Order: sequence, then structure tokens, then C-alpha cells
Amino acid sequence: MQTATKRPKKKARTAPKISVVSVPAQLARRLTIPRPDVLHTYLEYGQINQYLEYIVHKFPNFVKLYTLGITHEKRELRAIEINWMNPDNVELSPLMRMQAVKLADAHKKSGTKGPIVLPGEKNRNIIFIEAGTHAREWITISTCLNCIYQLTERYTRNIEVLRNLRFIIVPLVNPDGYEYSRTKNRNWRKNRRPHKTSKIVGTDCNRNYDIFWECGPSRTNRNTYKGERPFSEPETRAMRNILDSLAPNLLFFLSLHSYGQSIMYPWGYCREAPYHWRELHMLANTGRTAIKTYNGREYRTGSISCLTKRTIAGSVVDYVYGILKAPLALVMELPSRELGFQPPVEMISQIGHESWFGIREMCKIAFDLRQNIKRDEEPPRPPARSTSGAADTNPSNTSDKKKSVKKKTRKRSKRSLLTQHAEILELQQRHLDAAKVPPRSLTAPARTGRGQGDGQS
Ligand SMILES: [Zn+2]
Repeated sequence: MQTATKRPKKKARTAPKISVVSVPAQLARRLTIPRPDVLHTYLEYGQINQYLEYIVHKFPNFVKLYTLGITHEKRELRAIEINWMNPDNVELSPLMRMQAVKLADAHKKSGTKGPIVLPGEKNRNIIFIEAGTHAREWITISTCLNCIYQLTERYTRNIEVLRNLRFIIVPLVNPDGYEYSRTKNRNWRKNRRPHKTSKIVGTDCNRNYDIFWECGPSRTNRNTYKGERPFSEPETRAMRNILDSLAPNLLFFLSLHSYGQSIMYPWGYCREAPYHWRELHMLANTGRTAIKTYNGREYRTGSISCLTKRTIAGSVVDYVYGILKAPLALVMELPSRELGFQPPVEMISQIGHESWFGIREMCKIAFDLRQNIKRDEEPPRPPARSTSGAADTNPSNTSDKKKSVKKKTRKRSKRSLLTQHAEILELQQRHLDAAKVPPRSLTAPARTGRGQGDGQS
């Protein structure tokens, strides 16, 4: 495994190239590495890579690992591919294996090093899940790793989705920021690349994509700073490269954030609904219903701009939906305001499992919905409005809203740590009690009535 060094970058790097992480070279060492406990701890960057390598080693027949790029602090950005329909998969029926061999041959001819890309709408079956764009949202990374756990170590339970769909999962988009958040400042959100013109460090990677990027926040000291130009950051360039290459096969893109407890669809950059909003709404509601059935937790659903009560330009979900024209794209904001960005470790598996339950149901319905959606035939997307908030999409720029944000911050910071802890313990106890009583009837955490938890997606 590559250990991270923290030397600053000297030269501008060329565009990152996707490469396969070789299994045999590391095999001997891996056998001596124990499996990191993904379900009950927040793993550090090295342990996350170790888990990914453990999985590739354990399931070489249907799992591959790729390096998408290198961050400013020289950490690898990794994607795992889980592809059940693979000629190497000995568990496939002879007929399925023959089909898979044909697909693999077609891929070999194409000569790409990244995941297989195939022509035609019938091959549009990739579910792309990403997490950890915002450094402090630790629970999104754990939940994303739970998805990997479910699709590999628990594959027999999830065989229905594995048979129809291919999964590309990037569990940690912003490793530099995550390590900084773990070791220096738990509330860190951006990446860790310094700016040329000031001493301030970091760009919000979820404002750095090339879709109405110019409307994003341009002050470097902002937590939602959009960057010097679209794709100025190594993390977003690495993501762009794999997303662009897989665009013809993308079916459903899911971006994990916290902590709004909501499932949201485009647009983020404007208040209009997309042409295919009905399908998106149905997809989001499927996730919401599944999670409510699982343990009673209630998610909210709606468009990003509607639920967050602001417009957000330059986000990855708008990019994948608006530019790459993926049929379906969502943001899932995990629970919850009461638990914060880093819920207690006892909650990791519960949030992971309930989220997977929702995500799996969404994957199933995404497969059914794909026939209904013809992205090429829809009218052009609406323009970004240049009215209030469009120049700098975060409402805290306007004085009124600045006051209200300040008020909230003050109110929140007044709560003593003890009070916070007591609330978390109480919530947890309710969860534990509810889990003992069949059928599952967990009381959902109190709704705040506020527009949004994280508020910044
Ligand atoms: Zn976020």
C-alpha cells in the first residue's frame, strides 16, 4: 500500500490517468494484513485502501481496483469496480459466462485501462457511488464502504442487483481533506491544495465541476469556494476522467453527503425541475420508503435547490446529470443533524445498513426506469438565473441571511458538549430499544423543520 507523504506539489501535474491496482504484486503482503473493521470504526486513509485491497484479493473474480489520480498531498484516489457479469466469475452459469466473455473481448479491443465501456443503450447499467468529497462527512465514507461490503462479502444477499448492474464505487474522493479532518480539524470541508494568491488552503470540490461553475462562490476564505477554474483540483479532474469515460454506460449516479437526511435530485444550480423529474422523484421516494420500512427513519425528498433552499452551482451531481446526461442522478444526505457529520461509532453499522437498504431498492428501480428515460430527446436545460444568489450561490452572502446563519451558529455552539452527548446517547438508546422489538419500529429522530442539515451539500 502506498503511504501518504505530505510534500507540497512542485510542478503542475498532467491529467491523471486511470490505472489498475495490480493484485499479484501485493498478494503476499496482503495475506498478512488483517481485514479492517469497516462496520464499527472510522477508518483512516491507509485502512480504507487496505480494505479495498483485501476485497480485491478475496473476490478477484468480480472485483477490480483502479487508481484514478493522485491528490496534492500525493494520496491515491481509488475506485473499486464490482462486476458480477465477468468471464472470470466461476459462479456464473455457462450461458452467462459466454455472454460475459463476449463483453470482455470487446473491451480488450478497445484497449482502455479503466473499467469496461460498451456501446449501446442495452449496456447502460453502471451504478456509480461516490463519497467523502467533503472531508468532515466521515459517515458518508463508512456508508460507502458498507455498500462495498454488501456487494462483496455479503454478495449472496444482494445477488439480484449484482446480476443486472455493475458498480463503480469511489469511497473517498477527498483523502487529503479527510486525513486533515481526522487529525487536525474535525470540521474541515474542502481539499488541501493551497491557493496561489493567498495563504488560505482548499477548494470545495463539489463546486468545482464545469456546470455553471462561474456562479459559485469566488472568495477563497469561503467554505464553499469554487476554485480557480473548473476542474482546477486533482480530485475533480480524476473524477471527471472516469465519469466522462463511463458516460455511455452510466445509469444511476449517487453522491453521498451528510447530514440533511434527505434524498435530492437535480437541479442544484437553478430552481426549475428537470424534464424527467418524475422518474427522479420516484427513484428518491423508493429510497425513502425502503429506509422507512427498514427502521422507521424518515428521509425527505425533492430537488437540491428546493430542499436546501438555495442554488448550488458546479456540483458533481448536476455535472453528471446535465453534461454527461446520465439517466438518473441523486444526492443522498445521510442522518442527521442530531448526530452531526461524525455520528458515534456505535451508529456506523446502523446508518450503513439502513442506507444500503435504501440504495439497493433505488438500484433496482433505476434498472426498471431506464426504459422510460430518453435524455437525448429532452429540451435544453434551463439557464442559471442572475438574480439574487446566482453570483454567489451561498445565501450567507446576503446580509439578512448572514445574520440568520450567524444566529444559528451561535445557537448551536451554545449547546454544551454534555448536552450534545446526552442527546446522542438518548437517540442511540431509542434505536437500540427499537431494534429489539419486532417488527422494526424505530422512532425516527425528531425532525427539525429546518430547511437542511448540512445545508451545503
Ligand atoms: Zn457534503
